[in-house]
Amino acid sequence: MSEKIVLRYAPSPTGPQHIGGIRTALYCYYLAQQKGGELILRIEDTDQTRFVAGAEQFIVDSCNWLGIAFTQGVHVGGPNAPYRQSERTELYQKYAQQLLDQGHAYLAFDTPEELEAMRQRLEEAGADNRTYNYMTRMSMRNSLTLSAEEVQQRLTAGEPHVVRFKVPEKSEIRFHDIIRGHLHFHGSHVDDKVLLKSDGLPTYHLANVVDDHHMGVTHVIRGEEWLPSTPLHVLLYDALGWREEMPQFAHLALLLGPKGKLSKRAGDKYGIPVFPMDWQDKASGDTWKGYKEMGYLPEALMNYLSLLGWHPGGEQELLTREELIARFSLERCHHAGAKFDMAKLNSFQQHYLRQKPRETIAAALKPIVDAAGLPYPNEAYLAQVADLMRERITFVRDIPEQAPYFFRAPTTYNEKMTRKNWKTLNKELLTEFRGRLNELTQWSAPLVQDHFKTFLAEKEVGFGKLGAPLRLALTGLPSGPGAFDIAETIGRTEALARIDHALAELPASDQA
Ligand code: GLU
Repeated sequence: MSEKIVLRYAPSPTGPQHIGGIRTALYCYYLAQQKGGELILRIEDTDQTRFVAGAEQFIVDSCNWLGIAFTQGVHVGGPNAPYRQSERTELYQKYAQQLLDQGHAYLAFDTPEELEAMRQRLEEAGADNRTYNYMTRMSMRNSLTLSAEEVQQRLTAGEPHVVRFKVPEKSEIRFHDIIRGHLHFHGSHVDDKVLLKSDGLPTYHLANVVDDHHMGVTHVIRGEEWLPSTPLHVLLYDALGWREEMPQFAHLALLLGPKGKLSKRAGDKYGIPVFPMDWQDKASGDTWKGYKEMGYLPEALMNYLSLLGWHPGGEQELLTREELIARFSLERCHHAGAKFDMAKLNSFQQHYLRQKPRETIAAALKPIVDAAGLPYPNEAYLAQVADLMRERITFVRDIPEQAPYFFRAPTTYNEKMTRKNWKTLNKELLTEFRGRLNELTQWSAPLVQDHFKTFLAEKEVGFGKLGAPLRLALTGLPSGPGAFDIAETIGRTEALARIDHALAELPASDQA
């Protein structure tokens, strides 16, 4: 086997990509980057009945958003093109024929009614296993039980048929899973799965094994829901003579919600979005929220998702893309499912948002305030607001929600604060201080603050006596960035106008 590692992310376009799939893609990406290997994006679209328009683009867009770079695949191209399985059917048919010729597979003509009758027979007989397998195959209508002439006649007549794998029932199936260790199955537990359907298209199993082999895949990283299929895949590698080059497997534990699997429904119930981006179901018109449109930064989601199922070792959990790439290892993946915790994701989000340059936050803020019709003088102003607010928010959209006073003078004043901090004495102090502010020839937070301190010292009163009414007049709210910083940002004229307005309009609470 060549030294170079080749990974693939192989989603089926049967709906929007779940974040569990995105985690798989991330792990593949880290490993490919770390080892200088290949990462292929292969679209497994052999089940035409479950095909959902737009799902492939959604996968591509989600991966782009998170910076998951593929070296080959749909939308990228590469030496193994095409990368959509629906465009590779001849290859699968060739191997189905090889399996038939070598006696590893057989043709089956059973109608849906006959298959149902078989299941009923088994049920009545009290059998646990009601599948098409080594025990039942000889009582069914297939090329193992029919004469060669009859098979030929049926084929000539164009009778619908499938190709089934003939599971060697006496086989011991052993393989090593990097996360789960050595695994052991018995052939008698594997059923004779369909490899090629009556429409000539392969099933997932055949296409997956053929493509992994043809694309030189060295490591299959996928969700644990595929673990039950792996014994069949191992048997297929054997039957096709590819066992020596069989990829290594790593089956990842499921992502969990507060109670069990993190399904779309569970996500809805517990307020945990399960899609990376917004998705609208064209048929039903239903929409689902995605992390991107909710305002999450890709680096926050990437970092958080990476820790759901993998432990970096050590205490440090906040890891940059480069650190994730350098440290990731399949050996440190857990086999128990990991619970999604929105509060923790939000703390990661806060961390990454804080680190953004003020201009970047301002650029994200602009369309939000524009859409809300909130006025501001220029973009430099938004950058200043971003700087003051970055420590206090989880999302950029929180800025106008938490601090509307940066865009409009307050029209209402927090009641509790008014009751407590807007008494006659406070108003008198603020009135006098307002007069003193006229003395300032320049306007900045430190200058206003110095003036404020001198005034307090002179009056021999504590900070809150004047600080709180000043904040109330400027913002109408009890908390936010420092009042002097707010005064500087909104500017002298606006600050003085707000103080004047509050003094004139808001009665002292002890007089009311
Ligand atoms: N097409 C499968 C899926 O949708 C891929 C499973 C695998 O990676 O083998 O998840």
